[in-house]
Amino acid sequence: MHERMRGDLQGAAVQQQVQAGAEMIEKVPIPGLRPTVWDQTQQKVKYPKLLRKAVTDVVVVGAGIAGLTVAYNLAKEGKKVVVLESRVRAGGQTGRTSAHTMPWYDDFYHQVEDVHGLYVAQIVAEIYKTAIGWVERTVEEEGIQCNFARVDVYLFPHAHTKEAHDKLLKEFVACQNLGVKVEMQELGNDPASGKIGTAIQFANAAEFHPLLYINGLADAIVKKGGKIYEETRVMKCEGTKVTTEEAFQVTANALVITTNSPINHDLLIHA
Ligand SMILES: Cc1cc2nc3c(=O)[nH]c(=O)nc-3n(C[C@H](O)[C@H](O)[C@H](O)COP(=O)(O)OP(=O)(O)OC[C@H]3O[C@@H](n4cnc5c(N)ncnc54)[C@H](O)[C@@H]3O)c2cc1C
Repeated sequence: MHERMRGDLQGAAVQQQVQAGAEMIEKVPIPGLRPTVWDQTQQKVKYPKLLRKAVTDVVVVGAGIAGLTVAYNLAKEGKKVVVLESRVRAGGQTGRTSAHTMPWYDDFYHQVEDVHGLYVAQIVAEIYKTAIGWVERTVEEEGIQCNFARVDVYLFPHAHTKEAHDKLLKEFVACQNLGVKVEMQELGNDPASGKIGTAIQFANAAEFHPLLYINGLADAIVKKGGKIYEETRVMKCEGTKVTTEEAFQVTANALVITTNSPINHDLLIHA
């Protein structure tokens, strides 16, 4: 329905990234996997495979942004945490994201408000704002060099139709009611920037290099006493105990599954 545009990513820069992406297609080993500008193939295994049983406070399955964020917060609070990752950290969707950290909601605030009411929509808006601030603070506290920068972002309709335009206006009003900092902009339909006309400009979004961020977060977890194991696929979860492909068990007081796709069946979704 809509597309995203970073405040500083226009014209020649877009062309360069498209070219870089095309060159990377040759290098990507997984059929059908589209390369990203940060070339996920640069992400190498750094942490060992789990080759013994373990006991811990919390076991986290999956080392994408969700799993490592949970693990980091737990380690910071003094919990013993073990992260088990079947491939390499950020080897899932996190390594392929377009990495916009935005104060808008993909399914539209006005729709949240229509379905759940103003209070819930306010909570959703607050969560997005808080999450961006959390990443910014963590980057600073841990000294993670990941090119984190605050930028403006633009939400604009994909289709040049009255319906799409009306939906954008409805979202603009919803954002204003929720206290999300927005301005309506007329971007002039410049062909070099995708012929974008009317757009909502959101202030205080952010961008960062997802792999550098994830690597910094992983280092911080280990510094705080957490353990990360890569190439360690979890095959079975029973209560809060998990069993890996090599038949080693990790017993914990709590289990957090952050695999993005369910692991209790054989389908690969978002793999
Ligand atoms: C092309 C694209 C663009 C996107 N753009 C944006 C954007 O601009 N902004 C935004 O906010 N979001 C964006 N997203 C979505 C965002 O990337 C994901 O929501 C986010 O990365 C999901 O993180 P995750 O940690 O939940 O999952 P993942 O990163 O997929 O992590 C799950 C991890 O679990 C591991 N795993 C799976 N099964 C097992 C198992 N059995 N045992 C052990 N480990 C296992 C996987 O290997 C993987 O590393 C985009 C996604 C894509 C694909």
